[in-house]
Amino acid sequence: MPIKTVDDLFLNELKDIYSAEKQAIRAYPRLAKAVQSEELKQALQEHLEQTKGQIERLDRVFEKLEKRSGGKTCEAMKGLLEEAVEHVEEIESGSLLDAALLAGMQRVEHYEIASYGTVVAFAEAMGQQEIQQLLEQTLQEEKETDQKLTEVSRNVNKEAIGGGEEQDEEEEDEEQDDEEEGDEEEEEDEDEGKAAPKKAAAKKSAVKKSAKK
Ligand code: FE
Ligand code: FE
Ligand code: FE
Repeated sequence: MPIKTVDDLFLNELKDIYSAEKQAIRAYPRLAKAVQSEELKQALQEHLEQTKGQIERLDRVFEKLEKRSGGKTCEAMKGLLEEAVEHVEEIESGSLLDAALLAGMQRVEHYEIASYGTVVAFAEAMGQQEIQQLLEQTLQEEKETDQKLTEVSRNVNKEAIGGGEEQDEEEEDEEQDDEEEGDEEEEEDEDEGKAAPKKAAAKKSAVKKSAKK
């Protein structure tokens, strides 16, 4: 779509957000499934429902403009969601994965806040009051979701840090994995034998990671 006027740019931005919301709504169920914290799961579930309403609002905006909503893919949202989903494959489920997913979700919200902020400003400048109001409602929801996630992160991060010792060991394991050959691996396995089950779990995820390389 050629962009030659502010109208074109405004429409382009709206199509971008529409694509972003559609992608988010498809990804949330998978993320919710991977999350262990009930609080985080619930926050995601709530935002999934909210997002459906946000898409309806955008449908109304396109109706008012008498334009089609499709035709653009938000590459930024695609990348953000890919990064979040990557964690599901890389990190074993538990508080550490929850913390990683929460970080990903907050990036998504921040991206949306930036995007809606822009279109609200355009709508205002163009004197499109009704559209401005619709977009402002969503902007507010995205901000509230971000705040909610910050609240949830306090507990999630605490939990993840509670396993912090084990995380340090995991990093060491990884370093060893990179250097070790034959004999050293056996030596390490002996250490693992004496270690607590928690450490074994960390080892397992380190193995999983090196297998991916
Ligand atoms: Fe949204
Ligand atoms: Fe985008
Ligand atoms: Fe959102």
